[in-house]
Amino acid sequence: MSAAETFRSKHPHIPVRILTSDPALPYAKPPLSKGYLCDREAKIDLHSPGWFVRHDVELIRGITVDHIDLAHQEVVTEGGRRYPYWHLVLACGAFPVPLSIPGAEAALPLRSFADAVILRMAARSADSAVVIGGGLIGCEAAACLASRGVPTTMVAAEPVPLQRRFGDEAGERVAKILSDNGVRFLGSTTVTAIYDTHVHLDTGAALDGDVVVSASGVRPDPHLAEAAGLDTYDGRIVVNERMHTSALNVYAAGDVALAYNVTAGRRIRAEHWRDAAQQGLIAGLSAAGQPAVWDTVPGFSCTIGESTLKYRGWGLGYEHSRLVDHHNGFTVYYESCGDLVGVLTLNADDDYRLADRLIRSHAPMMI
Ligand SMILES: Cc1cc2nc3c(=O)[nH]c(=O)nc-3n(C[C@H](O)[C@H](O)[C@H](O)COP(=O)(O)OP(=O)(O)OC[C@H]3O[C@@H](n4cnc5c(N)ncnc54)[C@H](O)[C@@H]3O)c2cc1C
Repeated sequence: MSAAETFRSKHPHIPVRILTSDPALPYAKPPLSKGYLCDREAKIDLHSPGWFVRHDVELIRGITVDHIDLAHQEVVTEGGRRYPYWHLVLACGAFPVPLSIPGAEAALPLRSFADAVILRMAARSADSAVVIGGGLIGCEAAACLASRGVPTTMVAAEPVPLQRRFGDEAGERVAKILSDNGVRFLGSTTVTAIYDTHVHLDTGAALDGDVVVSASGVRPDPHLAEAAGLDTYDGRIVVNERMHTSALNVYAAGDVALAYNVTAGRRIRAEHWRDAAQQGLIAGLSAAGQPAVWDTVPGFSCTIGESTLKYRGWGLGYEHSRLVDHHNGFTVYYESCGDLVGVLTLNADDDYRLADRLIRSHAPMMI
């Protein structure tokens, strides 16, 4: 959407077409595991159907692209239809990592609006829920389910939630937030099987789960690019700071892209909403022949009940972390080679803003 909107704003008359396998009108994904699942808000469409008509952006939903024909500059759908392009933006996102345990199909994923509808309906009549995975979406979804009055247990292989991303100390604070929101957290535990409504654990115990949520992470989907022979690395489409892939007039943006960030001076993995939109904007500008580079520091927020964690930084990988408690929140600084490389805050916006500036300028944190 971001690439299409940007291109359209620069070229009012060149045809723009969006092909998506999702049957729904394009929507905001972050609220799905927050306000939508908590029953506090409806689906948030990015634009009304009329917007597409007024801006002459052709939106074709429920259609899956099978492959890209680079030689003829066409994309080919599963039904064999061919769509020509001058410029092509690949923004195919990521898909939930499937659980590889017996009964995995009983666990509900949460990636699309359709997934969220099914989960919300299931929660309405559930007496118990189990969330598998202690990542961002797992934490948000578990808090929502608990807020609906469904006794909810989160099971994670890590000792504390969000540990891989944010470390032990931050994870302990998040475990407390979950517990304050009525979620029971079972760490250092793996699920071995799901039979009927019972979730079996490696400890030998079993949990009741009328609703079981699979929140064990996502994996980018670069298969269209790989099949077309584009450069990929670590399961992502390699692009430069202008979102150009290795093929002429083909760009990639969002979760599927491994983009060069000029401020970081290297390629950065960023699987967040705001960064996907920013990269889409740059891809749209590049396709329109306008200068633009990716230079912003990635970041996102995560809302667990009433608590909103804010992160800004270069992502996974740091040498030291330092947690500072505040009266109703905390700040965690992440450092590498003497530079501040990330910050996580809860109710500490001043720290967040200062750290954001320091991360951008590759400066150390003096505390
Ligand atoms: C429940 C949930 C909550 C989230 N919360 C947050 C948050 O709080 N903050 C945050 O920063 N990020 C959050 N995220 C992550 C954020 O939504 C993603 O980073 C963002 O959506 C990535 O955008 P994208 O365009 O790269 O991919 P996606 O939004 O995944 O879109 C990919 C699109 O490509 C389509 N597609 C894929 N393959 C094909 C094909 N072969 N043919 C046709 N169409 C295809 C898909 O149908 C989909 O429409 C959340 C994600 C989810 C699922």
